[in-house]
Amino acid sequence: MDNNNMAGILYDFLMVKFYFCSNIGSPNMKKKPTYILGIESSCDDTAAAVLKDNIVLSNCIANQEVHRAYGGVVPELASRAHQANIVPVVQRALSIANIDKKELTAIAYTRGPGLLGSLLVGSAFAKSLALSFDIPLIEVNHMQAHLLCHFIKNEEKQPPSFPFLGVTISGGHTQLVLVEDFFKMTQIGTTLDDAIGEAFDKCGKTMGLRYPAGPEIDKLAKQGNSEAFEFPIPKVKNYDLSYSGVKTAFLNLINNNVAKNPNFVANNLNDLCASIQKTLVQIIIQKITKAKEDFNLDQVVIGGGVAANSEIRRVLNEKAASAQWEVFLPPFQYTTDNAAMIGVVGYYKHMQNQLGAMDQSVNARLTF
Ligand code: ADP
Ligand code: MG
Repeated sequence: MDNNNMAGILYDFLMVKFYFCSNIGSPNMKKKPTYILGIESSCDDTAAAVLKDNIVLSNCIANQEVHRAYGGVVPELASRAHQANIVPVVQRALSIANIDKKELTAIAYTRGPGLLGSLLVGSAFAKSLALSFDIPLIEVNHMQAHLLCHFIKNEEKQPPSFPFLGVTISGGHTQLVLVEDFFKMTQIGTTLDDAIGEAFDKCGKTMGLRYPAGPEIDKLAKQGNSEAFEFPIPKVKNYDLSYSGVKTAFLNLINNNVAKNPNFVANNLNDLCASIQKTLVQIIIQKITKAKEDFNLDQVVIGGGVAANSEIRRVLNEKAASAQWEVFLPPFQYTTDNAAMIGVVGYYKHMQNQLGAMDQSVNARLTF
């Protein structure tokens, strides 16, 4: 190839590059919006949402009441309820968004982690829909989604910037995560036994509260004295945590006192709730503080159902008053399982052309 040819190719290349670069972000260039349907079925909530890019148009959830009688999620019943709920929930999400299913750009679904039977319902439905409309299928890691829900467009708050400390606190997980990019996440700590939400639920069960007990404990704690009872803070290495010891200490306190006074729980309910809540929150706050300092991170991004807890919000907001802490708490509708967070991950994956495969099966123990 002679020099003239080389110069010609280089010129063409630069012109093409100039054309694309000058058009990106140009007010005249209208990027076609993407419409993503998000489907979430990892545990006991059947959820569907429609997003226009990162804007939520609809976010629908069918909670499964069937588990209340059992004090926890019964996997077989959860998959059956997903089967019954998934079509109406998706239809509702499309109808609220005022989108015809033929307008969808892609389908994003939860591939894991979660209950296998529950995940299978959502994935089979998502695959069938993607196949019938010949549109891309996108796999979403539920735990990534809990953190990336902060990238849903929010007029009131800018999203976090990378890197940040991600903290997922839910019924099934308690994780500290170093988040370097959308899909570059490393778990640096986790619970060695129970998750924080599970500890709330189990302590609530001991007091005779309905499942899930977290929201009820939160409500009752507001009228209680958090210093009334003291529980041990476990000593666990590095950024790992443990909740089973405090749960057992709580159970022992109740059993010992009920043996002497059958009305012990009823007489002390608010104080018990306030005291156990304060301890459960203290355990995670200690680890968040340590990880934030050791990794020299300014931003702490919370996700998961327990992010709705008012004590954890109070403590974190107090920290955020200092210059070294910027705290991101999800809006309430994105704390517990929801499909909007699945949809927004679908949007970012679609932008990066990270598409899923029809032969990919769900993974109950999916990690980052
Ligand atoms: P998972 O995905 O693991 O099922 P979710 O993210 O749906 O968990 O969160 C459910 C958990 O959040 C339950 O354990 C529930 O008790 C807890 N939870 C919800 N709201 C609160 C609250 N206000 N205070 C404490 N825990 C809460
Ligand atoms: Mg969850």
